[in-house]
Amino acid sequence: MFLNTHFPRAEKYWYMGKLRDWSEAGLHPMIHALHYGTSTFEGIRAYNTARGPAIFRLPEHVDRLFLSAGVVKMKPPFNKDEITDFIKLTVRANNLESCYIRPLLFFSYGNLGLVPKACPVELAISAWEWGAYLGEKAGAGINTYIVPWRRVHHTQFNMSAKLGGVYVQSTICGLEAREEGFDEAVFLNLEGRVAEGPGQNIFIVKNGTLVTNDRKESVLEGITRTSLLEIARDLGFKTVVRPITKEDLFGADEVFFCGTAVEVIPIISVTDGSDPAGPRIKHTVGKGVPGPIALKMVGAYKEAVSGRSPRYEKWLTYVNG
Ligand code: PMP
Repeated sequence: MFLNTHFPRAEKYWYMGKLRDWSEAGLHPMIHALHYGTSTFEGIRAYNTARGPAIFRLPEHVDRLFLSAGVVKMKPPFNKDEITDFIKLTVRANNLESCYIRPLLFFSYGNLGLVPKACPVELAISAWEWGAYLGEKAGAGINTYIVPWRRVHHTQFNMSAKLGGVYVQSTICGLEAREEGFDEAVFLNLEGRVAEGPGQNIFIVKNGTLVTNDRKESVLEGITRTSLLEIARDLGFKTVVRPITKEDLFGADEVFFCGTAVEVIPIISVTDGSDPAGPRIKHTVGKGVPGPIALKMVGAYKEAVSGRSPRYEKWLTYVNG
């Protein structure tokens, strides 16, 4: 089972205290989370460094996993230290130098009413090689599409949490953008300002200043975003956190996405599909190629995650030490 897929399999995944072969499965179709998205997860990356694989900002990811669990009123069956150790173990067990890591907490088998009163909370952790999230060519800049659907609003849901069910909006709009011929979606918020990508935060650059928005604009304030704000300041750039309007986006000198999976990816065009009845206008960002500041951030982020910047060693958890 699970051999004949597109998935770049690893050797083992971790499930409730045991490493299992990647192809072994024993989860029941009546698991609560499968029906209602009552799961929470993290997306983490480990990178190859001179001292072996290092996980980027692991404590922050584990903290967010617990925050998300609290939002869905779930009590994790392990504490933070234990989950940290299980994550490191999963990377080691697969002999992975660099990888993506997916801890998943979910309401499991017990009852199928919406309130999971008899469902235990279970944890699974997988780690596998996952290269460029938007494909190898994305580094040359991607074409994005503002979808007509507005991002879930921060008054409707705690946007700092990563809950399985809430990602269905990201999936739908990610598919919609691709059906329309674009590389990725961009969401506006209910106020009509720029929110984020389906799994990425957005930065714009104007006159040398880096601008990004925050949770009041209905975005998940990502760990990559926070890291880039610090790196940008250390590089001497001015940074501003404020709302971003559509006009800001269209008039920006540079635009880029950031996130654990996508890392830092320049955006070279934005097509406005936010009004299905209106004209669809393509806005080229800057000169239509990745700009110098975006490229600088790509490079500085790579150096930080791979242990080549002593200043950011503080963000690395070495798997073998
Ligand atoms: N926004 C959303 C909706 C996301 O899913 C992600 C990915 N976790 C991000 C932003 C970026 O967050 P991070 O940098 O922590 O991966």
